[in-house]
Amino acid sequence: GILPRFSTAAAVEEPIAPPVQVNYNQLLINGKFVDSASGKTFPTMDPRTGEVIAHVAEGGIEDINRAVSAARQAFDEGPWPKLTAYERSRIIYRFADLIEKHNDEIAALETWDNGKPFEQAARIEIPMLARLMRYYAGWADKIHGLIVPADGPHHVQVLYEPIGVCGQIIPWNFPLLMYAWKVGPALACGNTVVLKTAEQTPLSALFVSKLLHEAGLPDGALNVVSGFGPIAGAALASHMDVDKLAFTGSTNTGKVVLELAARSNLKPVTLELGGKSPMIIMDDADVDKAVELAHFALFFNQGQCCCAGSRTFVHERVYDEFVAKAKARALNLLLDPFKHVEQGPQIDEGQFNKILHYIKCGVDDGATLEAGGGRLGTKGYYIRPTVFSNVEDGMRIASEEIFGPVQSILKFKDLDEVIRRANNSCYGLAAGVFTNNLDTANTLTRALKAGSIWINCFDVFDAAIPFGGYKMSGHGREKGLESLKGYLQVKSVVTPLKNPAWL
Ligand code: NAD
Repeated sequence: GILPRFSTAAAVEEPIAPPVQVNYNQLLINGKFVDSASGKTFPTMDPRTGEVIAHVAEGGIEDINRAVSAARQAFDEGPWPKLTAYERSRIIYRFADLIEKHNDEIAALETWDNGKPFEQAARIEIPMLARLMRYYAGWADKIHGLIVPADGPHHVQVLYEPIGVCGQIIPWNFPLLMYAWKVGPALACGNTVVLKTAEQTPLSALFVSKLLHEAGLPDGALNVVSGFGPIAGAALASHMDVDKLAFTGSTNTGKVVLELAARSNLKPVTLELGGKSPMIIMDDADVDKAVELAHFALFFNQGQCCCAGSRTFVHERVYDEFVAKAKARALNLLLDPFKHVEQGPQIDEGQFNKILHYIKCGVDDGATLEAGGGRLGTKGYYIRPTVFSNVEDGMRIASEEIFGPVQSILKFKDLDEVIRRANNSCYGLAAGVFTNNLDTANTLTRALKAGSIWINCFDVFDAAIPFGGYKMSGHGREKGLESLKGYLQVKSVVTPLKNPAWL
């Protein structure tokens, strides 16, 4: 799993990533790279500088229509769902091999477009993409139906079939993990896909999708449309010929796509949305280790994690020591994604301004600013690692999703109080617990309303572990066996049994 691997070595000047260039900047429809129907393009930026990396074809309604037709044909007539499960799995296994072969090249492209530290992309995210693809390749030939008992003389089969054309909309924070969590199970189950990438990070999905075709994926089985949410995303969510929708992003946009799906053809929707996850530090904790874990839980990926431990609850007996050490840890962070460092820039100007706004809210609402509190440098979207202490539940920084490197530390007295306060959120995605006491850990595990509970660890994302939210953090689960349920139709087949020997 992901453990804190942040380097504390001094930044070095030599580049650690291979040189990278943009090879694919068009839409991928029916196995071919094509321009958008309108001929329009949009720029994608380097978050370190705000400079344009490349202009990318901008998918619109007509392009979504073309992509859905290709996926429809590939599903209804094409080879993908008709291949044997073993043949499908072999293609996905070959894809994983190609990802491994191009690991550093893909990681560099991702770092360039997203701003995440190269070492994290190269050593965590891209290997996980390959791992997840192998996990789903392994499932392809292990999905099978059931024979269930009947009360009368009936032979009853329960069949699992692919659901059809899947529309998938992904965000920019982990472009390729989100790709794996969605494309992996959809293809393994024999579905075809139209993927709408985030407008901030269109490049890496095009690159790896080319590899997937090299691995043998038939034309039309996966179509990738870059473009903007309210146009291309909305067209996909409301398309009458899309049989299932999977979305990851903000809770507000989740509500919009759910409504679009309901108003069109009532397609089933899985949603992976926002969070305001508690990270609870008990008084038996080794404070140095607790600081490191809570730091990782919040600052990993520049704070741009849906499950970020963004409410650090610290027991009053260790609170002062914790705050002093959390401050020192944040001041120690090294920033510049292409060097041996921990934190890169935020994704874009919109997120950068949103985070600065929340920092101001924290100060205005009366929290104590311990570290950071503003931009770093004069170009790009770097924000100084920021720590607030004396945070109260009602403050905006304690209740709203910031999605940035801003740690809010809250003080608590006892277990009942922290359970009540931790659960007092419209979200329920994840929770972290740091304690050596087994009873405390068990109590919290049962009491916390969240889809993932990490005890003495955080952000462990192994392929088989289901991930998803309670409450307004979403519907359904991704990864693991649970994720397959979202991509399968269930059909019951009943046949009368003539002269059964027994019932
Ligand atoms: P967003 O939800 O607007 O975007 C996510 C995806 O949805 C993108 O592909 C986008 O193009 C698409 N989209 C946007 N509007 C759409 C619409 N009307 N119809 C269909 N698709 C649409 O998120 P954002 O604006 O990039 O970020 C805003 C906030 O969302 C962040 O600050 C953060 O709080 C949250 N966020 C959460 C996650 C997560 O993993 N849960 C990821 C990214 C952002």
